[in-house]
Amino acid sequence: MTKSERHVVVIGGGLIGFSAAYQLLKRGLRVTVIERGTEADASCSTGNAGMVVPSHFVPLAAPGMIWKGIRWMFDPESPFAIRPRPSWELVSWGWKFYRASSPARVKRAMPVLRDMALRSRAMFTELAETEGFGFGLEKKGLLMLCKTREALGHEAEIVATAKSLGVEAELLDAEGVRAKDPAIQMDVIGGVYFAQDCHLDPARFLGDLRAQVQRLGGAIRWGAEVEGFRQSGAKVESAILKNGEEIFGEEFVLCGGSWSPTVGKKLGINLPMQAGKGYSVTHPNPPALPSICSLLNEARVAVTPMGGKLRIGGTMEIVGLDESVNRRRLSGILKSIGGYFPELAETDFSGLEVWKGLRPCSPDGMPYIGRAGGRENVVVATGHSMLGLSLAPVSGEMVADLITGAAMKYDMALLDPDRY
Ligand SMILES: Cc1cc2nc3c(=O)[nH]c(=O)nc-3n(C[C@H](O)[C@H](O)[C@H](O)COP(=O)(O)OP(=O)(O)OC[C@H]3O[C@@H](n4cnc5c(N)ncnc54)[C@H](O)[C@@H]3O)c2cc1C
Repeated sequence: MTKSERHVVVIGGGLIGFSAAYQLLKRGLRVTVIERGTEADASCSTGNAGMVVPSHFVPLAAPGMIWKGIRWMFDPESPFAIRPRPSWELVSWGWKFYRASSPARVKRAMPVLRDMALRSRAMFTELAETEGFGFGLEKKGLLMLCKTREALGHEAEIVATAKSLGVEAELLDAEGVRAKDPAIQMDVIGGVYFAQDCHLDPARFLGDLRAQVQRLGGAIRWGAEVEGFRQSGAKVESAILKNGEEIFGEEFVLCGGSWSPTVGKKLGINLPMQAGKGYSVTHPNPPALPSICSLLNEARVAVTPMGGKLRIGGTMEIVGLDESVNRRRLSGILKSIGGYFPELAETDFSGLEVWKGLRPCSPDGMPYIGRAGGRENVVVATGHSMLGLSLAPVSGEMVADLITGAAMKYDMALLDPDRY
């Protein structure tokens, strides 16, 4: 069989699935993407904050996060919540999160996240200059905005770590912050400027990827849900759809976001995961518009200009696969904005359409990327939590490297889908 006859079946049409499909097609493989949704609904990958963040080298599971999370749980408008429920998976995920939050593990994870994010940034830069892509990449950096001494003190430590890792970071006082973005007033005591961070429009990026996948001859099956597999020994022969149809292939890539564990189980692959629900609202014509994206430190809210629009988003609710909108939590996001940007108010954003997405969260904050479950022709790429856009291009490249047998450039043990 020649290389071009190898058929790769990608399960899941979010940012990770389409990034993988694009990279595979560029290497001359035949690709089919199977997505149970329609072209109009794209799970977690369209309404996110659009930030590409080499500054996020600390994984979600880090020292201090558990106690912060417990404190937040008692505030219905806080940026984090877990709905306690009788679920062994949830208890086991929490225990794994706790175990992963050790300084030693975080120290090992940080250079991997840094290298992956910087590679992605370089790939976004290249893609932005490629014909057929136009997703509004802005390489203007990111401001981490602080209103309290406690937060600024913590950020000063992050700046020191960033510098030791070779990530650009500048600690600023209030004047320094304002000088970085004179386009909008800010009421803060200081912050950090991460020069290498960027922002873009994730829906446009996903749209470009879909169009390019089709242009390169890839097939996309919308409204097709994978329910099982035909397997022979360690080899998967086909993905079986809900309607009974079989899609045969030589390689299978699992990119099902928060639903990946259900599909993984059918292949004997154990992927501990919790969905971390978040919301965003996008103002089409805001009263004031920053030119740089920012994170409101104490509120854990992301603020991103997208063309002339302004998106604000946040919260992390661990409530299973429930996609309903929690209005109290949403109100927590909207209320915070005026405290940092006096020209903006909660009322500017109320009444706008609310987008929600389920972040696929592994317990240690590291994606699952690699061959898995002893299956010789299955690759997993999921569990990117808060970094799925940032790490999409590099994850696609890694999938293509794994399938074409290229050398891997990262500490794959930390990303191993079979690590639990
Ligand atoms: C409020 C918010 C803000 C965010 N901001 C950022 C940010 O600024 N930067 C960043 O890097 N990340 C951000 N993220 C995270 C990012 O959006 C996610 O990590 C990313 O979208 C995950 O992509 P995915 O392709 O893995 O999953 P998804 O987008 O969920 O795609 C998975 C797809 O698989 C499909 N699927 C599942 N099971 C099956 C099946 N059996 N058969 C067929 N199809 C199936 C689903 O329908 C779905 O479309 C944010 C998330 C939220 C919620």
